[in-house]
Amino acid sequence: MLSLPSTADPDVVIAGCGPTGAVLAAELRLHDVRVLVLEKETRPAPFVRIVGLHIRSIELMAMRGLLERVLEHGRRRPAGGFFAAIPAPAPADLDSAHAYLVGIPQPVLVQLLEDHAIGLGAQVRRGSAVAGIEQDEDGVTVELADGERLRASHLVGCDGGRSTVRTALGVGFPGEATRTETLMGEMEAAAPPAEIAATVRDLGDKRLWLRPFGEGVYQVVVPAAGVSDRAQAPTLEDVRHQLRALTGTDFGVHSPRWLSRFGDATRLADHYRVGRVLLAGDAAHVHPPTGGQGLNLGIQDAVNLGWKLAAQVRGWAPGSLLDTYQDERRPVAAEVLDNTRAQMELLSPEPGPRAVRRLLTELMDVDEVNRRLIEKITAIGIRYDLGEGPDLVGRRLRDIDVAQGRLYGLLHRGRGLLLDRTERLTTGGWCDRVDHLADPTAALDVPGLLLRPDGHVAWIGDDQQDLDDHLTRWFGEPAH
Ligand SMILES: Cc1cc2nc3c(=O)[nH]c(=O)nc-3n(C[C@H](O)[C@H](O)[C@H](O)COP(=O)(O)OP(=O)(O)OC[C@H]3O[C@@H](n4cnc5c(N)ncnc54)[C@H](O)[C@@H]3O)c2cc1C
Repeated sequence: MLSLPSTADPDVVIAGCGPTGAVLAAELRLHDVRVLVLEKETRPAPFVRIVGLHIRSIELMAMRGLLERVLEHGRRRPAGGFFAAIPAPAPADLDSAHAYLVGIPQPVLVQLLEDHAIGLGAQVRRGSAVAGIEQDEDGVTVELADGERLRASHLVGCDGGRSTVRTALGVGFPGEATRTETLMGEMEAAAPPAEIAATVRDLGDKRLWLRPFGEGVYQVVVPAAGVSDRAQAPTLEDVRHQLRALTGTDFGVHSPRWLSRFGDATRLADHYRVGRVLLAGDAAHVHPPTGGQGLNLGIQDAVNLGWKLAAQVRGWAPGSLLDTYQDERRPVAAEVLDNTRAQMELLSPEPGPRAVRRLLTELMDVDEVNRRLIEKITAIGIRYDLGEGPDLVGRRLRDIDVAQGRLYGLLHRGRGLLLDRTERLTTGGWCDRVDHLADPTAALDVPGLLLRPDGHVAWIGDDQQDLDDHLTRWFGEPAH
């Protein structure tokens, strides 16, 4: 039976409160969209996976006023050395005011993002798993595992690589199945740190490492091949066995905090949107963790989608705005999948890939090569295809100095922004959606520039009519 959304229903249901779901919830709340996040786990995942926030994600945190909180819990590290773990330092003049990496435990980051979303008014229901969906032209009915049915205008599947939402939609997820499995865990080691460091370094195998976390605790990564099967949870003995087989010693590892297994499956969803249901984050793309890009990609999906979906829900979206989410983000994910495939080859212990690795290591001494690879991993090189125009159109704008301080400080509310050095442009009937900063001192070499809420440049120029056309393209019809 058809049930229409009532005023008490959420506008948007998000399946999954991982990093992608939490960021999307916050982005939607910036536009007063009623959001309900359903998360199947009662508590955030305990795996203390240390992830790296790369430059573009750090910039997004700054754009939403979250960076100080993230830095309180994370460690700043140099931006370079991530492409296939080739230790090349980043060029000194990367195009960002935040040219570093933040290492932060994933559960800590997810909690911070979830708290932020809740602080903005999102509702998060833990212990609620999405089990099925039906959609019609008026909305989506979401069925939970306990049989409860909810109604919303839109549903977004941010429910990870094994996404129930993607499966229920019947969206294809082609790519390569896992070929290589890896065991990872955090544990104590009895052997002296110098001995561990020297053994691992001399081995030169990039698929085995013991990274010290201090106080005798190590993050340990070993190939899973040959020990335990996928159906069983990995054990400490599995890790010890692999260490002995590869190094001759198990370094006396003991007292694991946690152990997990991950594969290198590489897959991309055929569609990011089917009617009123969308996919974001790992639900839309999975790939090996080389270069540390998955979580970053998910956060960036969420910031691209948030304002567009909000515009759709609130009724001001121009006709094709929501489709630009897939048009822009799917090619970015395809590119990340490709660079992780390349990195996996470069990490192989086989003689051929090792030779290619030596060659690439040499080539990374060339500034342009190193820069291009770092811009890929850190996502600051992305340019969405927004049609013809100057090179900056479609790219994100760095955090520049403006009369009121820093540009990103003006983007906390997730609105569009007209940066106007001519002082004669206007946002007219769009001023309810787009802020206007008339500032002849802004550190820009263009007369006027329109920024979308995700910080990407939508227009450059000084002609009011041309600006109005672009305001209509991205922000819909002007208010009367
Ligand atoms: C070893 C390792 C190291 C990594 N290091 C990095 C790194 O350094 N940098 C980086 O960017 N990425 C890294 N990644 C990848 C990163 O962890 C993922 O890409 C990221 O967690 C994806 O976020 P997500 O929110 O899209 O999905 P997830 O984090 O998988 O979250 C999905 C959420 O949905 C919930 N859920 C699932 N099904 C349902 C359902 N039916 N109903 C309701 N809720 C549901 C889950 O419980 C979960 O909370 C690493 C991954 C691994 C394995």
